[in-house]
Amino acid sequence: MDINPDAELDTSQVEDIRGSGGGVGGRVAIGGGGVGLVGLLIYFLVAQLGGAGVVPQGLPQAGDLGGVRSGQQVDSDGIRGECRTGRDTAALDCEAVAVINSIQSFWSTQFARSGSKYVPANTRFFNGSVSTACGPATSDTGPFYCPGDRKIYIDLSFYRELQTRFGAQGGLFARSYVLAHEYGHHIQNLIGTSSRVRGNAAGPTSGSVRLELQADCYAGVWANHATQTKSASGKPIIENISRQDVEAGLDTAGRIGDDFIQSQIAGQQVNQSRFTHGSSAQRRKWLTAGLSTGDTKQCNTFAPGVDLG
Ligand SMILES: [Zn+2]
Repeated sequence: MDINPDAELDTSQVEDIRGSGGGVGGRVAIGGGGVGLVGLLIYFLVAQLGGAGVVPQGLPQAGDLGGVRSGQQVDSDGIRGECRTGRDTAALDCEAVAVINSIQSFWSTQFARSGSKYVPANTRFFNGSVSTACGPATSDTGPFYCPGDRKIYIDLSFYRELQTRFGAQGGLFARSYVLAHEYGHHIQNLIGTSSRVRGNAAGPTSGSVRLELQADCYAGVWANHATQTKSASGKPIIENISRQDVEAGLDTAGRIGDDFIQSQIAGQQVNQSRFTHGSSAQRRKWLTAGLSTGDTKQCNTFAPGVDLG
């Protein structure tokens, strides 16, 4: 997978708050084991279900709090200056801009085809800790989507952690899958799927697992169409997705499955009743379902009698 060096990047889709708030040294419990994992397992749930369930539609708006607390400021000037075209994507933040552009370009086209309008979501880069409409979070929670302010939050050091802590192969496609999964949650928020899931029940067939597997499937749907996505001036953004790229994506999906995290990372017994994201096999299955078909209809993890895997 490559990013077209000639594609211009739209940095208006990201907000940079790395230079403030948590700041340098603000990381909490890097590789710290239990606490972080609990965060990783739970936070998505709180963010999505709490946010989507309790604050159903559009409030609070980004303008009135926007997740920025005092001492945390959006300063995207650096990114605007540095991330101009695909040539700049050796830097992880610029790479993320390109991938986000591609993901939102795809969904925008997809929504337009079905006669509706896609509402873009910005991604916020943060360091260490962040305040959001879904509550405070640290890097330990991993990347997440907050329905309350319709933003994706990521500390880009998560990519390194995927490799060092989870043993993932990494690579551009795997990093893109992470972002595309979070945008999958934004799609669910826009079309109202997230609000169908109430409470915070866990378990292998819980609403939470169904939401997560569907977000994996949506990530796959984007990946299927990624090489057709275009920049504002019509240049392809993504090029050359190989079998190896896909394998690396599936490898990552497998390493953030509940059973893998419980047994291999936390060193506990696998306890299905605590599943919130789905098993490794399920996550691979649903990412593949989207990837191989490119069809959102194949992502109906809520269908009666559906085989979740
Ligand atoms: Zn998720």
